[in-house]
Amino acid sequence: MSVKKGRVFSGARPTGRQHIGNYFGAISNYVKLQEQYECVYCIVDLHALTTMETTQDLAKNTLEMAWDWLSAGIDPQKSIIFVQSMVRQVTELHTILSMVTPLGKLTDLPTFKDKVRENPKNVNYGLVGYPVLMAADIVLYRADMVPVGVDQSPHIEFTRETVRSFNYRYNTNVLIEPKIKLTEFPKIMGIDGVNKMSKSLNNDIEIAATAEETSAKVMQMVTDPARLRRSDPGNPDVCNVFSMHKIFSTPEQVEMVNTECRRAGIGCVDCKKMMAANMNAYFAPLREKRREYEKDPSATWDMLREGAKRASVLAEETMVEVRKAVGLPSLLKE
Ligand code: ADP
Repeated sequence: MSVKKGRVFSGARPTGRQHIGNYFGAISNYVKLQEQYECVYCIVDLHALTTMETTQDLAKNTLEMAWDWLSAGIDPQKSIIFVQSMVRQVTELHTILSMVTPLGKLTDLPTFKDKVRENPKNVNYGLVGYPVLMAADIVLYRADMVPVGVDQSPHIEFTRETVRSFNYRYNTNVLIEPKIKLTEFPKIMGIDGVNKMSKSLNNDIEIAATAEETSAKVMQMVTDPARLRRSDPGNPDVCNVFSMHKIFSTPEQVEMVNTECRRAGIGCVDCKKMMAANMNAYFAPLREKRREYEKDPSATWDMLREGAKRASVLAEETMVEVRKAVGLPSLLKE
């Protein structure tokens, strides 16, 4: 077996079926990195509790997300895939890291302010501590690299600062500062063309949607707002469908759309039809694989439990060192 270059960690909340933003912002890197790195991928259900009103869909959404990950090519033989709450050490580390975290730093984060704006009636203690739990996740597995979309960059910077504070306070180097790893497409826009693609904004296209559902969503995509009639020339530079062509279409098609849109040689409907067809062709193999996983939910849960066992070993190794650095007593007699 080849020696791996380092450790990668990433997590995402169990939001159910994943969308194109998740896929091109994060999952595609998860898949690539597992060839060269030791990868740990986590479905962060405890994080999900910070914004949830009910947990009745939690298990279902965990499974849906795991199926998307697996069918996208995350391989449990190569990577550790598990559910956050199955490895208890993360909550212990979260508590310890919270002691080196100034409260103001958390409430100043743009991600926290967004969440407050989205849901002003549910600003709970856990929500404020969301980045501390995320930092705990990353450093518990001693990750060097964290593949995420660009929206997560403040959290990675926060994690780096937390590592420095902890190591300084306890005069140790037990925790590692991770680096962010972005894809070529770190921010995919939603079908509204103005906001980041996101489930909560209902502007997403799920990677596992049917071909018909996908085409219907693509048809709703907002294009150049200045192009009112078919005969008007359009501007691909401000059109989100064109951005998607750059992902899903051949260079020749991208070139053709770029030229023809500007001189009204192609209309938005035909342009979208072409893109939807390419998108469906791209995701067809993934969708087929997913149908196989869907047949056996208990096999997926077994895989997640197995992943958690492997992750727990890594987590406990770190916690032994952390407890020692902090001066907390060990359960084991030394
Ligand atoms: P979480 O908030 O738990 O990270 P999300 O579902 O918002 O859950 O995101 C999961 C991953 O997908 C993260 O790495 C995030 O940065 C990335 N991501 C989410 N939306 C987009 C998007 N529109 N473009 C690029 N990356 C995205």
